[in-house]
Amino acid sequence: MTDQQRGVCAERLADFKKGHPEFDEFVARWADLLMLQKEVRDELRFPDAQVFAWTEEEFIGGVPLATKLPAQLFMEPFRASAARMGNQMAAMFPPLGENISRLQKRLEDDAWCAQCLAAVVNGDAAALAAAASSVDISPEILLFYARAVYSPCAKALRPLLEEHPSVVLWRKRYCPICGSDPDLETLEIHADEADFVVSKSGQAWLHCPQCGLHWRFSRAVCPSCGTQENSKLTRYSLAENPQEFIYACDACNHYLPCIDLADRPATDSLADMDCASLSMVHLDAVAQAKGYEPLSPAAWALVQLLDH
Ligand SMILES: [Zn+2]
Ligand SMILES: [Zn+2]
Repeated sequence: MTDQQRGVCAERLADFKKGHPEFDEFVARWADLLMLQKEVRDELRFPDAQVFAWTEEEFIGGVPLATKLPAQLFMEPFRASAARMGNQMAAMFPPLGENISRLQKRLEDDAWCAQCLAAVVNGDAAALAAAASSVDISPEILLFYARAVYSPCAKALRPLLEEHPSVVLWRKRYCPICGSDPDLETLEIHADEADFVVSKSGQAWLHCPQCGLHWRFSRAVCPSCGTQENSKLTRYSLAENPQEFIYACDACNHYLPCIDLADRPATDSLADMDCASLSMVHLDAVAQAKGYEPLSPAAWALVQLLDH
């Protein structure tokens, strides 16, 4: 992570905490995890040339690129990430400390490590359940741990995969690289050659919390269930900052944080989107109080926010 990115992220979160001191401790802990993941990402290495086949059919069928790579490729970076993050994660989340050191040891077992990877790389629920029961840990805790450790791997892998020509054509609601659901939608003005008429309200883009990719989506469509029925889609924001809002869907009962960047100069876009949705947790709390469920798999959106 460059100093500039660290600065942008820290500045955004510091601004947020000033306005929402009740979230101070909560945001600080998750920000520490994000910073640690970025540091680890910079240290991980994947071999440069990846030989893999991604057919037109798979692209149309919506198969994410990382799922086409040999599982073996992930094993060493995943273990390296776990070894690097374990102690600090245990310090950040004391109730998980003992479990984390147990999981760390268990990763030395190739078959168990492969089950964890199937759970995070391929979203294999049966592999997650089997891996969790064999260490006598809840699948939710194991998934939190495995996702936290896998994210720096997905981020390190992203530059090798995002140049694939099909990635720019992808319009699905989940990430073309790693398959994760998004944690943020942005509305942006892109005056590129393909757009002869640039919509004044901007294009919709989604951000992946796992690998950090930012990809084009369709406007006015629910990024969870795909409904285009306007009457089902509602925005919730605070009066003082209507550019940052929750996009909630009454067809599937999910919501996603959204930032309207259309009025900002192009040079002033979000330099680091990885911490943007963390600085909108007060809106998560509003959406959850209204009974909506987060689409975002970001761990901070899944914990109980209603006490705040
Ligand atoms: Zn991704
Ligand atoms: Zn929906």
